[in-house]
Amino acid sequence: MKINTKTWRNIAKGSVLLLTIFALYSITPHKPYMLIGLATTLLITVLFRTVFCGWICPLGTVFDLIHELGQWFGKIPVIKPINRKYKRWVKSNKVVLGKIDHYARYLRYVFLLWILQAAFLGIASIKNGDEKGILSVLYLLIAVGVLGLFVERAWCKYSCPVGAVLGVFSKLSPTSVTRNEIACIECNICSRICPMNIDVANLTRVREIDCQTCVKCVDACPVDDTLELKFKIPQFKQIDTSMKELG
Ligand code: SF4
Ligand code: SF4
Repeated sequence: MKINTKTWRNIAKGSVLLLTIFALYSITPHKPYMLIGLATTLLITVLFRTVFCGWICPLGTVFDLIHELGQWFGKIPVIKPINRKYKRWVKSNKVVLGKIDHYARYLRYVFLLWILQAAFLGIASIKNGDEKGILSVLYLLIAVGVLGLFVERAWCKYSCPVGAVLGVFSKLSPTSVTRNEIACIECNICSRICPMNIDVANLTRVREIDCQTCVKCVDACPVDDTLELKFKIPQFKQIDTSMKELG
């Protein structure tokens, strides 16, 4: 039996989620292990973009489950008509919502700054059990959790400080989803399926910091060998030696 990418992705995400739950209950975090974990995550990001977010992060998996729950709620007969109205409203306000989504993604950096000040300056710190700090995180998680019922990967898009940092490092990565413009039939399926709302159908190489290398777009493309995940080491142009003649 051939196992498809979706199954491998779910196996990876499910296993890490279970391991994380086990670790939270039984393992005391030690600085050296945390540093090794951080270094490994940065290394795989530089090599394969934010594959950590798409295949490993347990919080991303929790938000996938929350969104699945939202989809399931929408199918309940009493809620179905409201859900239909909601979908129509989203469609007719697509442009405005797209703009809000674009600017709201910068909130990740605001949250990152908040975390950094909490860690180093201690204002509303969650480190020493500061009630204000803990409540702020809790409120944020609840608010983004509710949003996650409607919006796929809401945490990754608008709040995750880890994703914000990894996204910057992913710019160095030689890995990217690549589209063959000649073979493409412009069906737009790849753009529609992307959980991070990247317009894959209008790009030749997906270099966006939000791309999580989940390869859902590659799986969904109906034309063989049109969308591919490629590992391409940047080529540095040689200086033309004939230039020396100018001197
Ligand atoms: S562009 Fe493709 S690989 Fe990147 S996040 Fe979107 S669906 Fe996943
Ligand atoms: S899914 Fe494939 S064929 Fe369709 S627009 Fe995207 S790259 Fe082109």
